[in-house]
Amino acid sequence: MSRPVTATIHTDAMRHNLASIRARAPSSRVMAMVKADGYGHGLETAASALREADAFGVAAIDDARRIRALGLVQPVLVLSGFDSTADLEQLRELDADSIVHHAAQLEMLEQAQGAPIRCWLKIDTGMHRLGFAPEAVREAHARLCAARGAAGNIVLMSHFASSDEFEGVSPDSRQTREQLQVFADATAGLPGPRSLANSAAVLGWPGSHGDWVRPGGALYGMSVVAGRTAADFGLQPAMTFATRLLAVNRIAKGEHIGYSATWETPEDMCIGVAAVGYGDGYPRHAPAGTPVLVNGSPTQVVGRVSMDLATIDLRGHPDARAGDPVVLWGDGLPIESVAQASGTIAYELTCSITRRVRFLEA
Ligand SMILES: *Cc1c(COP(=O)(O)O)cnc(C)c1O
Repeated sequence: MSRPVTATIHTDAMRHNLASIRARAPSSRVMAMVKADGYGHGLETAASALREADAFGVAAIDDARRIRALGLVQPVLVLSGFDSTADLEQLRELDADSIVHHAAQLEMLEQAQGAPIRCWLKIDTGMHRLGFAPEAVREAHARLCAARGAAGNIVLMSHFASSDEFEGVSPDSRQTREQLQVFADATAGLPGPRSLANSAAVLGWPGSHGDWVRPGGALYGMSVVAGRTAADFGLQPAMTFATRLLAVNRIAKGEHIGYSATWETPEDMCIGVAAVGYGDGYPRHAPAGTPVLVNGSPTQVVGRVSMDLATIDLRGHPDARAGDPVVLWGDGLPIESVAQASGTIAYELTCSITRRVRFLEA
């Protein structure tokens, strides 16, 4: 038999989520983040569904090429930037924008031959990953303005570390307030558009929206805010990850299920064996109690998830039979609840789906 594991991508949900983000940030343009293969949903599927976005954000030049191959003509921002003249040539060929986050890139743009590249100057306002330190911003900006390899109208941007701690809601929203202040001070008086907000900031920090918002997870109907699902924000899940039961077995009380015998049957009961495992990207660390739906109604994983199979508690599902549908997340089961049970975030789950899973569009 072929494996029944599917990831169904709800392109209408993505369009709904884009419209919902526009309504929340009505004065900003929207850059749809489609890095990591559209957060695991498929870059081509995601970018096509989101073709009304004002721009796209990708991690690498190869992804910019895939966007252009779809015939999409809006700006594409390469988040990792460039580190060679060959990269610069490809950026020009693809008419792609680049992040500039390091002094070595300024030098390359000063010496560059050929058409100028549109630049997004990345400022490290406290996350301490990529970007120029606040005190280095004015000099970097002046050098970029003068560099023959850089186009005018440089975008000033930064990224938040903790914007999921909402203003006025979370007791711990200090870091985002500080990052906003550092950004305002570092860029005061400089011309050019501003861009700071990821999904959580679009939802919870309206004062941060600026000229460009850069949502990712929210477009796919995923929440990063602890204890809240995407539905709490009016967003719709863009992926349903599903499979079928391969077997339903009656197991006596006191037996142990699966590798390392981690779960003991508390009574005589039925165990469903679902055709899904970590070989498909279902998390091996999903513990007993992780929610799933069988025939649309809730139950839980029991025992250890293996490569091809997962075992499911069928108490309360007396009619379940081999072949019945199992939803792992998506339609009727918020991915956030699976992520929380598994000790991760929804983003990691969708990014972890493997190549043997069949992708469908709905
Ligand atoms: C990934 C990313 C985003 C989007 O973050 P979400 O939490 O998915 O909205 C925005 N900006 C940058 C620079 C990113 O790398």
